[in-house]
Amino acid sequence: MTPPSPDIKIATDTPIRAPSPVPVDDAVLPFEVASLDLRGRLTRLGPGLDDILTKHDYPPAVGKLLGEAIVLATLLGSSLKFDGRFILQTQTDGPVSFLIVDFQAPDRLRAYARFDAGRLKPGQDSGALLGHGHLAMTIDQGPDMSRYQGLVALEGGTLEDAAHEYFLRSEQIPTKVRLAVGEEWRGGGDGPRHTWRAGGMLLQFLPKAPERARQADLHPGDAPDGVVQHTVEEDDAWVEGQSLIATVEDVELIDPDLSGERLLYRLFHERGVRVFAPLPLRAKCSCSRDAVSAMLASFAPGDRAEMVQDGKVEVTCEFCSSVYEFTPSEAGVE
Ligand SMILES: [Zn+2]
Repeated sequence: MTPPSPDIKIATDTPIRAPSPVPVDDAVLPFEVASLDLRGRLTRLGPGLDDILTKHDYPPAVGKLLGEAIVLATLLGSSLKFDGRFILQTQTDGPVSFLIVDFQAPDRLRAYARFDAGRLKPGQDSGALLGHGHLAMTIDQGPDMSRYQGLVALEGGTLEDAAHEYFLRSEQIPTKVRLAVGEEWRGGGDGPRHTWRAGGMLLQFLPKAPERARQADLHPGDAPDGVVQHTVEEDDAWVEGQSLIATVEDVELIDPDLSGERLLYRLFHERGVRVFAPLPLRAKCSCSRDAVSAMLASFAPGDRAEMVQDGKVEVTCEFCSSVYEFTPSEAGVE
């Protein structure tokens, strides 16, 4: 049985013949290396990411993890058409027990994380922060379309590991993902200013002949000693693709002075790389006073009455921290 595909393949737009050397933030850059049958996307996030993470004032480790999840969601969700929606969420037993990234096509991003500050320790990587549980990816292409959900177990690994597991098991498309998040300090008139930046790359091997897409398993399994392991010879083009993406440094993915086009050229120039038009991204929550009011109206009268504090009802949007205030009568409290 073939699982429904979340359609992460790339549309063949008109390629840009003369790529801009100027770095563009908050965008996804689709690309193709035709000679190796590789397709991919490169995400660069600056002010949009900073806006999402700064509104919550997360501890650095939590901000970094949520940043990685945001980059991953942009790499996977940016091919959705029209009013499609891609939601990535994790539910786990680690210090960060829940995180959600909501990407609404064509360009809107919002996200938040829940964490237990008492369980944060220095040096925890994303795997340690998440712990065990699962990662769910939901694609909603509108009311007339069926929803698709993909699930991956999280077992102490990173989000990159989870993405590889997902593509190996569910999509069976040879895929490599790189995610990087960094904090930048820049001097200014009123002292150094802190900002978040992130970048990521998705690389996929999509040969016309399906037998070329064979993949080595992520885990060699626990065969008894002396048993000859069945080894899979990967296609030379995919071996080369993987070795190229493995050379990408975190600093290259987040460097504000290195354009996406230059980074792609640096990696693939010997094979020829075609870069397509960038897809812009922005941090924008979809909450509104009307939507919060409708949510309040759906509560039982007793629950609404319990929400009254100091003579008013206050509701905070978990995504963007906007606070909506209602009088008891506006909130439907008798
Ligand atoms: Zn909001």
